[in-house]
Amino acid sequence: MKRIGAHVSIAGGVENAPLNATAIGAKAFALFTKNQRQWQAPPLTTRQVDRFQQHMAAGGYRPQDVLPHDSYLINLGNPEAGAWEKSLLAFIDELQRCAVLGLPLLNFHPGSHLRQISEEACLDRIGEALNRALAATQGVTVVIENTAGQGSNLGYRLEQLAGLIRRVEDKSRVGVCLDTCHAFTSGYELRTAEGYDQFFADFERIVGLRYLRGMHLNDSKPDLGSRVDRHESIGKGKLGLELFRRIVNDARLDEIPLILETIDETLWPEEIRCLYGMIEGQ
Ligand SMILES: [Zn+2]
Ligand SMILES: [Zn+2]
Repeated sequence: MKRIGAHVSIAGGVENAPLNATAIGAKAFALFTKNQRQWQAPPLTTRQVDRFQQHMAAGGYRPQDVLPHDSYLINLGNPEAGAWEKSLLAFIDELQRCAVLGLPLLNFHPGSHLRQISEEACLDRIGEALNRALAATQGVTVVIENTAGQGSNLGYRLEQLAGLIRRVEDKSRVGVCLDTCHAFTSGYELRTAEGYDQFFADFERIVGLRYLRGMHLNDSKPDLGSRVDRHESIGKGKLGLELFRRIVNDARLDEIPLILETIDETLWPEEIRCLYGMIEGQ
C-alpha cells in the first residue's frame, strides 16, 4: 500500500508528531527530532520517548513509516575543518535521537562546497562524515536527499547520489529520498509519461531502486532546470497533478514514506485525500 503523509510539527514536543499526523489522515510522516534552527537540544526524556511510542502505536505507524529530517544547519561537506567537525557531531546526535525514538531512518541534505573546494572534494568530505557517523552509531540508516542544486548544494545529479553511496562503506545503512520539486528544478523532466519513465530508469541504472527509502511529494513554483528550491501545493505548481497520479499508481513506490512538504499545511488533509483518491482500481 501507499504510505502518504506530511512533515508535521513537533510544537510542544516530539511526542506530538504522531498525533499531528493522525489528525490529518497521514499513513506516514516526517519530523525534526529537535529545533532545526539550533545546534544544541536537550536530550529526549524517557517520558517523551514512551509517549512518542504510545502515539505511534495508536496511529498505526511502523518505525519505517517515519522519515526524520536533520537540522538545516548541518553541512557535512563544509570545507572548513572546525565547521565540518561541528556538523559531524550534530549529525551523530541526530542519529542517536532517531535511535532513542526507535526510528530507523534519518533524511539529510548532502552538503555544500561554499565555492571553496571542488564538487568531488566536497563529496569526499561528505563520504568521510557519513562513514564516521555510521561507525559511531547503530541501527539508523542515513537517507540522502536529492537537491535542487541551489547555491553550492550538492546532490542535484543522480550521479552525485551514487557517488556518495559508493563512498559509504556500510551499504546496508545508506539510502536515498527523492524530492519531486528538487528533481524537477535540478533539471529532470517529470511532467510527461516519457520523462517519468526515463527518470526512474536512470535512477535504477545509476543509483539503484533498492536504495530508495522515501520520497518528498512537492509541486514546484520554479520551472524545470531553474535550480531554485521553492515548493508549491500539489497540483498548483509547474509540475501539475499527473506526476502525482503516476507516483501513487507506481507499485515500486509502495511501503515507503511519501511525504508532503508543501507550503500550505492547512491543505494537507485535502492533499492526502486527493492523492489517495487518485489510486486506480480501488
Ligand atoms: Zn529536505
Ligand atoms: Zn524535501
